[in-house]
Amino acid sequence: MICVRCDQGIRPGEPYDSHIHHGASGPGTTNYSHKQCPKRPRRPAPEPANRPEPAPDRRP
Ligand SMILES: [Zn+2]
Repeated sequence: MICVRCDQGIRPGEPYDSHIHHGASGPGTTNYSHKQCPKRPRRPAPEPANRPEPAPDRRP
């Protein structure tokens, strides 16, 4: 099963919701989604460059 929300597979044992879409004609489709989608960082957030703060310009 593939979760329609996060496009990740729903593993056996994982809680999921099933959404049944009844077709106007013919069989409907059933979508599945995690009850709680795993948070997957699609791409790791870039670490903010740890550059030192510029020294405050202290004028006398
Ligand atoms: Zn999901």
